[in-house]
Amino acid sequence: MEIHHRVVVGSRVNEDQAAGAIQERHWREQYREAGQCPTLTAPVLKGTGESKPKPASTASRATTAIAALILALCAAGLSGCVLKLATTVEAPAPLTLDAFLSDDSPCYDRSAQPQTSVIDSHVHFRPFGGPTIPFGQMVQYLQETGVLFANIYGIGQTLPVTSSCTYYLDCPGTPVTPSLKNDFVNAANYVTAAQSGVHLTLAMTFPDLAEPETILPGIELLETEYPGLFQWMGEVNLVKQALFDNGHTPVSPATISEWAPFMEVLRDRGFPFAVHSDLGSEDAPTLYLPLMEEVLRQYPDNVIVWVHMGLSRELTTMDAARHVELMTALLERYPNLMLDIAWRVLDDAYFSTPDGLAAYVPFLNTHSERILPGTDFLASHDKSLDIYRTELEVTSRINRYLDDDAFRDIALGQNYFRLLGLDYEAPPICP
Ligand SMILES: [Zn+2]
Repeated sequence: MEIHHRVVVGSRVNEDQAAGAIQERHWREQYREAGQCPTLTAPVLKGTGESKPKPASTASRATTAIAALILALCAAGLSGCVLKLATTVEAPAPLTLDAFLSDDSPCYDRSAQPQTSVIDSHVHFRPFGGPTIPFGQMVQYLQETGVLFANIYGIGQTLPVTSSCTYYLDCPGTPVTPSLKNDFVNAANYVTAAQSGVHLTLAMTFPDLAEPETILPGIELLETEYPGLFQWMGEVNLVKQALFDNGHTPVSPATISEWAPFMEVLRDRGFPFAVHSDLGSEDAPTLYLPLMEEVLRQYPDNVIVWVHMGLSRELTTMDAARHVELMTALLERYPNLMLDIAWRVLDDAYFSTPDGLAAYVPFLNTHSERILPGTDFLASHDKSLDIYRTELEVTSRINRYLDDDAFRDIALGQNYFRLLGLDYEAPPICP
């Protein structure tokens, strides 16, 4: 078996050291499996395409490191190595929204342009509590990292304003509840803050799914104050184990049947419903599956986005093939189900392992029209542009393994445009 890897050394793929280590692990493992040296092509980009260029030495160091790795592999006594390094090419200009509005946009060259997603369908512009990254600064983070499309999520779990906590896990016993406050703040910022060069979609994050009778009045209130602005609902919580110490309990199946009035409004509006529903725990990986199945069974005509594919920090060791089998069955049974692959936990625990890659790459390629990418970044004041950039890079690592159709659907946003009926079209991928 021969493996041909294309290694891209450019601005957005100069990842942190951990990312490099994981990538190297992939090569080593696949190389070991194949029993021969991989063929590598590593163009070195001249420009960076980013507004804050990284020093040229970064690319050189990365190239040198790759060369050293390959030479080490070859020195191990195996034959068949072909190495083409340091072919200097011009970096294409970064994409702008215009590239998604024109019929004759240049094709997207995956060997020279970023592998990071241009869409972040899951980013929280509000923190759990405490000071926030200002709205305008969050928009700048998107602009600086090449993200052109984003959903503005509030947050489904807010700490009391009297609490000094910024993270609920640090304060067990402090109740966290959804609130309209964040949706109002996001809407107010959306209409006043500058947001040139990016397309933003406002999401309602206030619903407490355990109190369905409060949801329609909340929708009406937001739509009265900000008519036509909100286009999405989520991220809302069906069951989230991380919140159990803060007063959250799983929503009961009986309560799910009381959602009908607001789910009907979402259907009429064409709003996707993005729900956090833990699949289970390490000891019982599918413990909460019946809850999600209940939602899908009762509301098959709603577009439902299952965030993180049900995975979480409480479920990092599930057998990847089993998870993929389960997701495949649900996608086939429920044509309006979408899966969100946001949050670095998915890459850290699943996509970056050999078993995970073997299971998820074919799955994502086959079902690419049902997948949405995102960072799950949270705008608390202790975060920074560098952290956003890292989270975008980590959650985009899987992109480089996707085939061209899947890359266009997921990373270049084609699914997102289709889902929301947006007047954008992802550029074709260069042959
Ligand atoms: Zn989230």
